[in-house]
Amino acid sequence: MNTFEDHTQDIERLTVTKPYVIGLCIMEQKALFGIVDARGEVLASESVLMEDYPDPTTFAFDVCDKILPMVERCGGMEKIKAMGISACSGNNMNGCIENPANLSWKGKISLAKMFQGCLAIPVSLMNDATAAAMGEMAFGNAHGLQNFVAIIMNMGLGSGIFVNNRIVRGYSGRVGEIGHTTIFPGGRPCGCGNRGCLESYVSRRGIIGNMQDLLRQRPEVATPLRDIPVEELTIEDIVQACEAGDEMALECLRYTGDILGKALVPVANFINPEAFILCGMVGSVCGKYMQKAILEALNNNQFFPMRWQTRVLVSDLKLDEAPLLYASAEAWNTKVNG
Ligand SMILES: [Zn+2]
Repeated sequence: MNTFEDHTQDIERLTVTKPYVIGLCIMEQKALFGIVDARGEVLASESVLMEDYPDPTTFAFDVCDKILPMVERCGGMEKIKAMGISACSGNNMNGCIENPANLSWKGKISLAKMFQGCLAIPVSLMNDATAAAMGEMAFGNAHGLQNFVAIIMNMGLGSGIFVNNRIVRGYSGRVGEIGHTTIFPGGRPCGCGNRGCLESYVSRRGIIGNMQDLLRQRPEVATPLRDIPVEELTIEDIVQACEAGDEMALECLRYTGDILGKALVPVANFINPEAFILCGMVGSVCGKYMQKAILEALNNNQFFPMRWQTRVLVSDLKLDEAPLLYASAEAWNTKVNG
């Protein structure tokens, strides 16, 4: 037996500092990726359009091609600890995206394995809501909280849950699907095939639907939103009207907040969180107009001894950076195996 083995490689491996991680956030329309440091500073980032990638393998190769020069500019791959990927329908337990409802990819896609093959670093993958909770914990308004629920509102509605300072992953890795709770049986159709899901009322599409309903129900009320064809209304139009003090737009977000607040009652009763954090592009911009209605609905309906304990906060991370920070947060927890 050779007692004088060469440990040069081990010594190199164990003495090099790895100050950065790679984040990749896959959203409905685009994927955002970049290099992030431990304080949440984005050193480099880029994006691609999802419509250009009907095939996930080509997507992985192309994104790696774009990531490698970024990595070189930041000091090379030895400076990178790991990669974190967030995507709707991402499963942390197997590193796969599973039957994504809002992407053109079908079936079970082993995306973590593909990137691990290309980049030769540990890669973790999780759903966008769980990633949001990790990101808000690491860099945002949940910093220091041990029990909270991140409510992520975009095209859909999901939640990421921290209990006793640990992320909840669930039995099969599919935790937090609050958006598909039936709140109005027989109500609006949902992308999942059911009717009356929370997501059909509290999401980008849901809020626009609430505004369209209000405009139809109250033809006598004047609002600048009537100048926009009802089918072309956007969240940005509604938020802009709120900022200008338009009573009808404000009522739309109060109504949405009331629905969400009631839906959060069982969540608050079950897990006794210190805070709900509204995040995601839609949650972040609409949140401040929904906060009061959420609190009222929650506390008028919650189990009496637990009332007025849970805060409702809005993410204040930069809108264009938050998805990347969320995706990168889990990467810090991955093990480096040399
Ligand atoms: Zn649904």
